Amino acid sequence: MRLIKTSNTRICHAVVSYFSLPIFLFLPTLLLAQDFANVEITTTAVRDNIYMLQGSGGNIGVSIGDDGTLIVDDQFAPLSDKIAAAIAELTEHPVTFVVNSHFHYDHSDGNENFGRAGAYIVAQDNSRRRMESTQVLAGSGRVQEPYDEVGLPTITFFDAMRFYFNGNAIDLINTGNGHTDGDAQIYFRGANVIHTGDMFVRYGLPFIDHSNGGSMDGMIDALWNIAGLIDNDTIIIPGHGQLSTRDDLLDYRNMLVVIRGKLEQAEVQGLSPDAMLATEPADGFAQPNDNTTDWLLRAYGEYTGP
Ligand SMILES: [Zn+2]
Repeated sequence: MRLIKTSNTRICHAVVSYFSLPIFLFLPTLLLAQDFANVEITTTAVRDNIYMLQGSGGNIGVSIGDDGTLIVDDQFAPLSDKIAAAIAELTEHPVTFVVNSHFHYDHSDGNENFGRAGAYIVAQDNSRRRMESTQVLAGSGRVQEPYDEVGLPTITFFDAMRFYFNGNAIDLINTGNGHTDGDAQIYFRGANVIHTGDMFVRYGLPFIDHSNGGSMDGMIDALWNIAGLIDNDTIIIPGHGQLSTRDDLLDYRNMLVVIRGKLEQAEVQGLSPDAMLATEPADGFAQPNDNTTDWLLRAYGEYTGP
C-alpha cells in the first residue's frame, strides 16, 4: 500500500522539516526531499514481539502479534512507505495504532499518511492540541504547521492509559512536563521494554522545548519517575540513538542534575549569562561550541527568568 501523499505542499514541508542528527534542532541542515530516498530503515529485534525501526528522525517502536500492529512514532512523511515496508517484513498486519511520544515533526510527521491508511492515532492530550495549530520550537525557531484532521490523534489521555494488545499490557504514561508538555512514556510491561520518546536521548545535551512546556527541572523529575517504573532488566528504546538500560538513563539524568546545580549556583551568585558561560557548566559533558552555548543560555533562562 502506498502511503505517501506526493503533493508539492507535502514535499516542500519535508524539505524544511529535515534536520540532521545529532545536532538537529540546533543547527538546521536543510536537505532536499530526494535525500529521503537515500534513507534506509533498519530493524532491530528488541525483545519478544517488540522491534525498533531506525531511519531518519525518532526511533520507532513496533509491537506485532495477533491483535495487529502498534507503532510508537512515525518519523517523516516521505518515509512512510519505507516504514510500512519494513513492518511488512515482520507481520502481515498493517498498522492499527500509532502512538506519538510527543508532537515534534521528526516523530509525528508520518501521522497523516498512517491515519489515511486507517491507523488510529493516540497521544497525550497536549500533543494533540499542539498538532492542531502552528507551533514554534525553542532554539531553532522552527515552525511546525498543523496537521490535517486525518493526522491528528483521535484517542488522547491525560495522565495514563493502558492497552491490552498482543499479549502485553502497554502503559502510556505522562510523567509531567519535560521535553514538552505532552510527552508519553510507552511501557510494554510484559516484554519489559519502554520507549521514552525524547525525554531520554543518546546524543549529548538533550533538546528541551522551552517554548512548548518543556523544562530542565521537569525532565529531571520525569527521568526519576521513569527510573522508578522500570528495572535493571528493562530495555529502553530512547527517542534517538541506541538501545539502552536503566543505568544509562540514570547517568544521563545525573548529567542534567550536575549541570543544573551549576546553573542554580550561578543564579544565586547573580551571574550574568556571559559570566555563567565562563564557569563552563557543561564541562565534561559537551564540547564548548555554539550549540552548547545556546543550550546553556536557554537552560539558564529557566532559573533567571525572562
Ligand atoms: Zn522532540
